[in-house]
This record gives sequence, structure tokens and C-alpha cells, in this order.
Amino acid sequence: MRLQKFLARAGVASRRGSENLMTAGRVTVNGQTVTQLGAKVDPSADVVAVDGRPVAWPSAPFSCLLYKPAGVLTTMDDPYGRRTVASLVPTDEHPGLFPVGRLDQDTTGLLLFTTDGELAQRLLHPRYEKEKRYTALVEGRTSDAELQPLRSGALLDDGPCAPARCSVLKPGSARARAVAPNGVPYTESVVELAVHEGRKHIVKRMLASIGHPVVRLHRHGFGPLELSGLEPGRWRELTDAEGRALR
Ligand code: URA
Repeated sequence: MRLQKFLARAGVASRRGSENLMTAGRVTVNGQTVTQLGAKVDPSADVVAVDGRPVAWPSAPFSCLLYKPAGVLTTMDDPYGRRTVASLVPTDEHPGLFPVGRLDQDTTGLLLFTTDGELAQRLLHPRYEKEKRYTALVEGRTSDAELQPLRSGALLDDGPCAPARCSVLKPGSARARAVAPNGVPYTESVVELAVHEGRKHIVKRMLASIGHPVVRLHRHGFGPLELSGLEPGRWRELTDAEGRALR
């Protein structure tokens, strides 16, 4: 890799600024001053320094997804010592790992973590908000027709929602078991719902707005990611294909 690119990627300065540092004789590679702009370095072997201070090569970003169990807070640090998602993901090996968005304490399912701040910012930006797919056990018997207001855009206290995809699930389906492992009580229903927004308690508020408060909520999908195959409380690294699909 060209030295000026190395310096820019390591966050020392812009590409042009890095070239200026080199031509000013402030950059060394393995102790030798390098002013030639075409010089190459091997980030895994060479020691690059600016003004005598070694430049750390940022380790490759790490992203994983967690099957968040119920009862765990989506925060990396809780002043009251409650159980948080931080205890369930590999923070020692990957310092700077943080959750992309949040799930309520009682919500289970897919939570994405990354050390890549730029990726997280993009995924959370309203313009790019990825689809989040939920399964909800709700109070009362409902029907596809009754969910129509959610497809048109529910009206909530803090403004209207974008139209959501939603349908009622068959009680015996595999997806329904995530929120009703012992079967769906006769007085309750299971609804699948896909939203793009990340507003607080959005799914619970949407379903409450049509008279069906949520009993249990599970997120099974986020953009191109699916939770299938993971056990509650376990994490797995994203595959290369998943990482590419998120971009
Ligand atoms: N919507 C909610 O109401 N709760 C969650 O945890 C996620 C989305």
C-alpha cells in the first residue's frame, strides 16, 4: 500500500495532508525517513512513525449479531449493574464494539454489533434505515383486515408512521414459536410486521394503536440479516456476504 494511503487510512491526515507530512521529512518507515510519494508499506510488517511516534494500523472492523434474550438491557454500561448485552458479545477481543440501534429490555432477537462507526451511522441514518422484521404476540384475536391502518401508516403521538408490511401468522407456524413457544393462547394472536423506522417502542405503539397491545416481541430480521440458527444469548460473526450486503 502507498505510504500516503496508509497514513490517511490510519487517520493521521487526509491523503494530501499525508503527502505534505512525507515531503516535509516527518515520516519514517522502519526508522528510515521516507519522502518519496510512491513509497510502499506493508501494514502488517512495517513500522511507520510520524515525528517519531508510531502510527497504529486500525484493525479490521468487526461486526456480529446477537440473539438478545429477554431481560437484558441494550447498553454497553449500566450504572446500576443490571445485565446488559455487553456481557454477551466479545468486547475483550473487539474493544469499541457497540450495538446498532436498540431493542427494549423485554424484546428478544436480532441485535447487530459493530466496531465500524461509519457503518453504524449509515445504517441508523433515516435515509438508509434498513427494514426490521418483527414477530409479535398480541392481546386479542386479530385479522389481516384489522391490520390495514398499519399498512396505510399508523398515527402515533410523535407523528405518522411510514406504511408497514404486516400480516397475521398461523399460530402453529415456526415463526410464531419465537414468541409463543408453548402455543398461542386462544385470546391472543401472532403478527408479523416489517418497519423501517427506529423510533422508540415503535412496534409496541403501532400495535397498541389498533387495540392489540404487545405481549411479547421478537426481531428476526434486519435488512439482509436473519437470526435463524442462533440460540438465545449466543452471537456469531457476520459472513463476508452479509457484511457486503449491509453496505
Ligand atoms: N419496537 C418496539 O416497540 N420495541 C422494540 O424493542 C423494537 C421495536
